[in-house]
Amino acid sequence: MTKFVKVGDLKIGGGAPIVVQSMTNTDTKDVEKTVKQIKALKNAGCKIVRLSVYDEECVEALKRIKKMVSVPLVADIHFDYKLAISSIKAGVDKIRINPGNIGAKWKVKEVARAAADRGIPIRVGANMGSIDESYLKKFDDRIEALVKSAMDEVETLESLSFDDIVVAVKSSDAVETVLANEKIARLTCHPIHLGVTEAGVYEDAVVKSAFAIGHLVHEKIGDTVRVSIAGDPLKEVATAYSILKAVHALKGIEIIACPTCARTEINVESLAEEIKNELSDINASLKVAVMGCVVNGVGEARDADIAVFGTKSGGIIYEGGTKIGKVKKEEIANTLKKIVEKHLERGENNANR
Ligand code: SF4
Repeated sequence: MTKFVKVGDLKIGGGAPIVVQSMTNTDTKDVEKTVKQIKALKNAGCKIVRLSVYDEECVEALKRIKKMVSVPLVADIHFDYKLAISSIKAGVDKIRINPGNIGAKWKVKEVARAAADRGIPIRVGANMGSIDESYLKKFDDRIEALVKSAMDEVETLESLSFDDIVVAVKSSDAVETVLANEKIARLTCHPIHLGVTEAGVYEDAVVKSAFAIGHLVHEKIGDTVRVSIAGDPLKEVATAYSILKAVHALKGIEIIACPTCARTEINVESLAEEIKNELSDINASLKVAVMGCVVNGVGEARDADIAVFGTKSGGIIYEGGTKIGKVKKEEIANTLKKIVEKHLERGENNANR
């Protein structure tokens, strides 16, 4: 098990539930837009939000933002150790630096001292895209180079008696991300931040992240995750939760839906989306099936705790394999929510697992 660090009131590592984080893509100096996005991320379930801090004006904005939001904030710093120190003083809950581009060791030491004074952790690590050339020249194996680069950063902080460390090794290649994290997990006890960096546009990013993060979490590697998608960060959060639920690392309602065929009697996609939204705030391990018809549906949904089968006028609902009634189309989502709530009241949130 990894050690843990505290980010605000949250624990990362030490066996705590995996923390989903994301990053704003607004200009940090635009306080109004940034606060709006942070609040939207929090409402979507994001537990930690990272912001780019690239000059002193961003630090001034950060001070104001910090007072307006409740989710822990991470300042993302490159090159300038003074920005890291001002961000720490501005009240951030964690910083992400790259000691390799912060420069002289005394500068890293200043940052570590400021972080230690405020009791906040530092995330270090390496990205394959920005790894120092010297590592790639020194090691034939790219994974070796990536991991060594990250471990050198960890050791720099440890040599300064700083131990509140989170480490990340990332690549835009999902397989490299898996191999690097498997390797670093054998070398360090510090919590691990997982993610495929610069993963691409939506479909590509989802597939790469699902493979890499899902695989690693299933192997019990990783303490916090950030799915990286070019676009809306809210999608990063939704994707992260879907991955974690798929590998049973988090509880949650699992909506299964048939792919539809010529027998379909209802719009399965929109109904499944509607049901997913209706049940999104329920914290229980339940499988809900949305099927296009009753012909094969009953057999195909055998595994589900609750199932709805489309008919021309609405849906037939089954609970625990038993038919409990028919409802009109517009009442399906709400009826399922009531059934789920009753299910939970009876303490049957794990009926078919
Ligand atoms: S449940 Fe019905 S509609 Fe859906 S794929 Fe099976 S047969 Fe087709």
